[in-house]
Amino acid sequence: MGSRDEGEPVTKLVWRVKLVTELQAGETMEVEVARIERDEQAGLADLRLRLSEAKQLTSALQAEIVPAQVTIAGEHRCACAVCGRRLASKGYYTATFRSLFGDVPMRIRRLLACPCRNGGLAKSFAAFDLEAATVAPELAYVTARYTALAPFGKVADLLSELLPVSGAPNAGTVRNRTMRVGEAIVQPNVTTMATRLTARPAEPVVVGLDGGYVRSRHRQDERHFEVVAGKVSDARGSQSRFAFARNSPTIASGAFKQALAMAGVTADTPATVLCDGHAGLWRMLREALPNATVVLDWWHAAVRFEHALQAARGLGAVDAHLAAEAVRGLERAKWRLWHGRWPGCRRKLAALCHWARRTSIHGMAGIARLEHHVDELLAYLERNHGALVHYAARRRNGEPISTAFVESAVNEIIAKRMNKKQQMRWNRTTVQPFLDVRTEVLNDTLEDAFRRRYPGCRPANVDGPIALAA
Ligand SMILES: [Zn+2]
Repeated sequence: MGSRDEGEPVTKLVWRVKLVTELQAGETMEVEVARIERDEQAGLADLRLRLSEAKQLTSALQAEIVPAQVTIAGEHRCACAVCGRRLASKGYYTATFRSLFGDVPMRIRRLLACPCRNGGLAKSFAAFDLEAATVAPELAYVTARYTALAPFGKVADLLSELLPVSGAPNAGTVRNRTMRVGEAIVQPNVTTMATRLTARPAEPVVVGLDGGYVRSRHRQDERHFEVVAGKVSDARGSQSRFAFARNSPTIASGAFKQALAMAGVTADTPATVLCDGHAGLWRMLREALPNATVVLDWWHAAVRFEHALQAARGLGAVDAHLAAEAVRGLERAKWRLWHGRWPGCRRKLAALCHWARRTSIHGMAGIARLEHHVDELLAYLERNHGALVHYAARRRNGEPISTAFVESAVNEIIAKRMNKKQQMRWNRTTVQPFLDVRTEVLNDTLEDAFRRRYPGCRPANVDGPIALAA
């Protein structure tokens, strides 16, 4: 059995982790931040720093570093920036700083404004400016980033599993933090980006629009509401997604213009817009991009042709000759549409409607169904005739004719997280910040938005290992 004798004292292996503070050159101070103990006998499961220990260690470090930083930064504000006079203290206030490595209680000094700066200023101010945000930007970033990819509750579970985030971050906290990121970080970013990008020379872009429905939180008013999602792609192939709730026409129109601005598109940008013929979208398009070439998605038209063709083929069960005649008529109409000959296509379809109506008087089975589909197809094309183009020529020139490239955006933005499988319900008036966060994550621009708002937050290209003492 065991090699160890009965009664032999059990020796512990001990590691003590000390933090050596050197806030001024040569002046050091040590504090023990963790103590790790193990038995001499170790199995595979013992060969490691435990997750709980790592959490304890990082939060102990954070609890030492943050208050020292706040105190020192505050000392620099203790003298008047104008006359140098020492400012009087007006007591302290307490706050909790929430970070990826735990909650840190803070005591922040309030200072009385200097008498030399009379008027215009508040009577007192905090020696350290928390900017009304007690959540560390990096915690907000990580939370929002993963919320775009997984449900709130799952994000809460993951964060509390791996990090010493305290204050029990539950689904509600994660939701609220993400919403604030959308409102306070992403939205102001939209304005900055729009101004920055107008300086860029106008390069042609392709804009694709599509819509999807999400479940409403307020089921007494409506079960679902519509979210419009889209993509802008430029000549160099870079793509930018956007999404907004279809609220009132004015709001949707504003949201659309903003989304375009975000992607660097203004009213003067040469643009081709593809969409599925949704009546409300045309109006929005005309307002935002009055000079754009608008193209009705070929596949939406083709699917309607296919329904009519099926109905026509169905006639074959009764009369093969009539069925063949109807199929031929539809195929000719479709060929004309494909070759940009809308008047000819319309004439063919109108003739087919007329023919079906005449034939239906004879009560032939299936003819009413055909008539219905052809009627619908014709009305659809008439509604969208301004967006009918020479599809064959566009295809030959390698120009887009379908919104297929947008469908992935719709799926990523709406379907993945908001569909009925996940049982998520949204409020049409508050969904926008979440859509904004999600599109920024998918566009890979969320980190930039944080950097713009908090200079120094997650600096680019310096994520190497921390400098280690020799
Ligand atoms: Zn002064």
